[in-house]
Amino acid sequence: MTTRLTRVDLRGRTPTTAELRAALPRGGVDVDAVLDQVRPVLDAVRERGAAAALDYAEQFDRVRPAAVRVPADVSRRALDELDPDVRDALEIAIERTRVVHADQRRADTRTEVVPGGTVEERWVPVERVGLYVPGGNAVYPSSVVMNVVPAQTAGVGSLVVASPPQAEFDGYPHPTILAAARLLGVDEVWAVGGAQAVALLAYGDHGAGLAPVDLITGPGNIYVTAAKRLVRGLVGIDAEAGPTEIAILADATADPVHVAADLISQAEHDVLAASVLVTDSTELADAVDAAVAAQLPLTTHAQRVATALAGPQSGIVLVDDVTQGLAVVNAYAAEHLEIQTAEAGAVAARVRSAGAVFVGPWSPVSLGDYCAGSNHVLPTAGCARHSSGLSVQTFLRGIHVVTYSEAALKDVAGHVVALANAENLPAHGQAVRARFESLG
Ligand code: NAD
Repeated sequence: MTTRLTRVDLRGRTPTTAELRAALPRGGVDVDAVLDQVRPVLDAVRERGAAAALDYAEQFDRVRPAAVRVPADVSRRALDELDPDVRDALEIAIERTRVVHADQRRADTRTEVVPGGTVEERWVPVERVGLYVPGGNAVYPSSVVMNVVPAQTAGVGSLVVASPPQAEFDGYPHPTILAAARLLGVDEVWAVGGAQAVALLAYGDHGAGLAPVDLITGPGNIYVTAAKRLVRGLVGIDAEAGPTEIAILADATADPVHVAADLISQAEHDVLAASVLVTDSTELADAVDAAVAAQLPLTTHAQRVATALAGPQSGIVLVDDVTQGLAVVNAYAAEHLEIQTAEAGAVAARVRSAGAVFVGPWSPVSLGDYCAGSNHVLPTAGCARHSSGLSVQTFLRGIHVVTYSEAALKDVAGHVVALANAENLPAHGQAVRARFESLG
């Protein structure tokens, strides 16, 4: 098991953002490479619905659930039998996530452009949403919370959860996922994972009682992501959330034991997970390597962590100072970014690209994974350059409502006609003229 992280030394260099992106450790999940593998799965589910999903469960999950829709008594039992400590923790997570997300709801606007001419923007929830909760390498009841709370806060009326069938639980999703859904009041849960889950949510199955959704959110593996790409347009999807990432910007004031623990905690997710330390202190880098070596044998998923830390997506980036470090983390656009430097708040204020930023020594990513109140479904693979994590806004659509009086339209009619003519769309101009002149 190798424990020394690969180093990228940027000291004394002034790379451009593009050069930085090329130089930084980053894994590749080639979603395009599995599109052809995923297409037949979508076709089969579109044609045969839940029956095809059952066949794929047998093939990929090695179990055939008795029913694709999880019966209510199975979910009830899962909540009744939930460990009380886990139930308490989920209730705290739900409460805090609700408090934060309640503040995110954007207010409708109404702008009087001219007397008699108004434009409103009305935020309306998506009608029906499919929430994918992963369940391959690990099960994520916390992801149920992170998907459901913003959707409910937005006012989405109809929510359906899909999660992979588990062989050890009669082909139903993991009981903690069922319990979390029930705690949140979601009673429609389907035992289906991977690309077939995305297809079933997008196409629905009338016979099986599954209405198609309008939007699919939630993280997943490469097959889930490929399927989301393929159904995009027919339904909406959130930002792609693939293998998870942490970047830590730290200086000599950081505690190497904490930094190592946070790098390891992220690597625990997945052999493809990325753990990147950006620092101007070689002493810290050496101490983090030593702390990783000390902690690794003690961690439960040591082999998975070691593989992730040794992968091309993980490493230590040495920089001249915190300012260069900021350029690095802004170019990298991590899903999770920790700032463990002096004046961490001021440094965090200069971050331009990250899914979420965790400021100072007492705000580890693990807190955000569960109980900070923030959302943990965040853009990966540099998508934080253009996308945000899940929020209430993900589940709302802004509708423009335009109301002009006769006088207000008459006042601007000439300009509409001029622009319509400039675009060689004279009928557009005529549609305005017709209201004020007799045609022909
Ligand atoms: P998953 O639920 O995404 O995928 C499991 C499903 O993949 C199975 O049900 C199976 O049907 C399908 N599958 C497996 N092998 C297949 C094959 N060869 N061909 C076709 N389909 C196949 O669970 P996972 O695999 O554990 O992946 C979860 C991912 O989500 C991880 O990469 C994790 O890091 C990520 N994640 C991200 C966030 C975030 O917010 N960014 C949060 C949680 C998890």
